[in-house]
Amino acid sequence: MRPEDDITAVKGVGEKTAAGFNKLGITTIDSLIRYYPRAYIQYEKPVPLRDCIVGERQAVLCRVSGYAETKKGRRHVITSVTAEDSTGSIRMVWFNMPFIRSVIRRGETYVFVGTLKIKGAMRIMEMPEYFTHFAYQKQMSVLQPVYPLTAGVTNNSLKKAIGQCEEVIDSIEDKLSDDIRGEYGLMPVSEALHNVHFPKDRDTLAEAMKRLAFDEFLEFLTGIRKLRTEAAPNTCRITEEACLRLDAFTAGLPFSLTEGQRDAIEDIRSDMLSEHAMTRLVQGDVGSGKTIVAACAMYMAVLSGYQAALLVPTEVLAEQHYSDLSKLFKPFKIDVRLLTGAMTAAEKKAVYTAIDSGECNIVIGTHALIEDKVHFDSLGLVVVDEQHRFGVRQREKLVSKGRAMPHALYMSATPIPRSLAIIIYADMDISVIKELPRGRKRIKNCVVDVSYRPSAYAFIRGEVRAGHQAYVICPMVEDSEMMDGENVIDYSEQLREALGQGIRVAYLHGKMKDAEKNEIMKSFANRETDVLVSTTVIEVGINNPNATVMMIENAERFGLSQLHQLRGRVGRGDAQSYAIFINVKKSDTATERLKCLEESNDGFYIAEQDLKLRGPGELFGVRQSGDLNFRFADIYAYSDMLHAAQEVSLRLDNI
Ligand code: ADP
Ligand code: MG
Repeated sequence: MRPEDDITAVKGVGEKTAAGFNKLGITTIDSLIRYYPRAYIQYEKPVPLRDCIVGERQAVLCRVSGYAETKKGRRHVITSVTAEDSTGSIRMVWFNMPFIRSVIRRGETYVFVGTLKIKGAMRIMEMPEYFTHFAYQKQMSVLQPVYPLTAGVTNNSLKKAIGQCEEVIDSIEDKLSDDIRGEYGLMPVSEALHNVHFPKDRDTLAEAMKRLAFDEFLEFLTGIRKLRTEAAPNTCRITEEACLRLDAFTAGLPFSLTEGQRDAIEDIRSDMLSEHAMTRLVQGDVGSGKTIVAACAMYMAVLSGYQAALLVPTEVLAEQHYSDLSKLFKPFKIDVRLLTGAMTAAEKKAVYTAIDSGECNIVIGTHALIEDKVHFDSLGLVVVDEQHRFGVRQREKLVSKGRAMPHALYMSATPIPRSLAIIIYADMDISVIKELPRGRKRIKNCVVDVSYRPSAYAFIRGEVRAGHQAYVICPMVEDSEMMDGENVIDYSEQLREALGQGIRVAYLHGKMKDAEKNEIMKSFANRETDVLVSTTVIEVGINNPNATVMMIENAERFGLSQLHQLRGRVGRGDAQSYAIFINVKKSDTATERLKCLEESNDGFYIAEQDLKLRGPGELFGVRQSGDLNFRFADIYAYSDMLHAAQEVSLRLDNI
């Protein structure tokens, strides 16, 4: 037998069994030995009937005292038999297994394993497993694999079939050298496969699972690396001159760059000079100054004769970047344009023409940038801000607008633990900006319950009197019968009353028209309003350094990373800022989660906690969780294996 042989080559697997196996995706011997148990159970010592606990899975050793009876029920053929030990009697019941009659013999003793129920005055077990006493004693000493099943396939049939393949398993070649296995303490692959199906004991099983997790990580990572080395060559290489002139550009900034910013810019510079087109993710906490890093990349691209496009998720953010960047690039005679859905057709047309002719050097825009009407003259760099807001398709569509493969730079303010970044962003290089610009004061946090509201309002009043502004976040737009929780519309009414005269309260939510939203955000930025009550639409990007209070109602409703993002809207200027989290429901889990926010202002720490509490699926959306479809490779349980696999994949690259 060889791994690639059809499943029917296994002794005892006929057409019928094979058909069942096929339904489970088992077609070849290889897929059979890679069909892993979903759990393991250990058979316990039989318990006297008298001591059996209802609802628990137990083994009993009983003598069959009557003949097995079969009768036709409404939906099943029911076979049952009475059995007893010295402490009591029990009825065993099987559905649609009439052959039991010829297997279970009157007068013989068997071990039955099942869950005890009481029906009337009678103990029963439905669908118990049965063993001869001798067979059971042999089973008791070992862990039993439990396979995922389907109609027509029993656990035993899988066990038997895999048992027939031991020789194949033993002859599987190990892709890892003895050296590498020794270094990372990995079991040989055949031993691992063997123990996953027939574990010697719990410790050996753990080692086996560890090895298989490693293999899954390694396969994933090498697959992605291969894709990348086959990736497009760098046809948008920047010039030496552009590199040199960047130094003068950064020296002219009104602040000095942080170390993290400088490192990220260095990474980008060497990417844009290298053999392959850049695919880099810049990860930095909110307020860490990612925009200027992107600006440096755009500057080098433009000086080298290329166009750059900056894609952002919201109109407000696009306008903000547009106003900042056009000021920044004005002295260099770089043509910066804005393109958003809210612009008139004539305005858009003018921008299309400027992009197409090459007159425009840098274009900043929302989804409007992705539209088919947009043609570039020489797109050399694509920057995607708040990249998690975009689907892969959208990002790719923009990238495909270059004549050749442009460089791609992705910015993310959702800090991701390194363990997860290796997987989710395996197809990107990563730069991390750890620190915030100097001089920023640490945001002061408090998690409180609703009784604190009056004090919070008094506090907001004080901050506003001192010339600052505040945000209040509510989970809902309007009152709803479906859910309870604060809503923006009613809340802003109440707040207006509570805060009293002289304090201007505005509200904002996602159901408003874009133009209206923009108006409200602008007047808040221009300090024409003092307090902005909003849903989480303000989460992304918005920069108003004068705002010093972030109050969040129903904080228990939000994920930690989201709360951290929201909090990042304040603390962007020199003044001390505050975050107030109102924990309305006060459940234990919510309280525990919210404590993380009080403990730390570090987005990476928060993300790590969030991931632990909620799992990667929820945190990163459907696409990514689909990609994380590993069998053993749990990034927490085996984070050391993930790092090992990462190292090994790099090493294999260099061989
Ligand atoms: P984010 O990383 O959240 O996108 P921004 O790029 O919007 O952050 O930067 C936030 C603010 O910090 C901006 O006003 C920006 O001008 C300022 N900034 C960026 N880098 C520095 C620095 N090195 N020193 C001081 N201020 C900086
Ligand atoms: Mg930003």
